[in-house]
Amino acid sequence: MSNTNSKTCPVCGVKILGGDKVVFSSGPMGTRGRLWARVCNYAKQVGCINQDQEEIGQVHENDYYNPMK
Ligand SMILES: [Zn+2]
Repeated sequence: MSNTNSKTCPVCGVKILGGDKVVFSSGPMGTRGRLWARVCNYAKQVGCINQDQEEIGQVHENDYYNPMK
């Protein structure tokens, strides 16, 4: 663990690399916005490290989970 910028959200269990890269437990890498839209948005728990709107940035429509796809 040499990358000090990476953090794991203790609530969602998702790893946030430095910047705007997020590693999901399954599937491709995403952004903080995508993580928020799909996970943290619903978790909304104390201790979640991805609830800061300014750090999350813009959440796009296709960041939300869409079962129709
Ligand atoms: Zn979280």
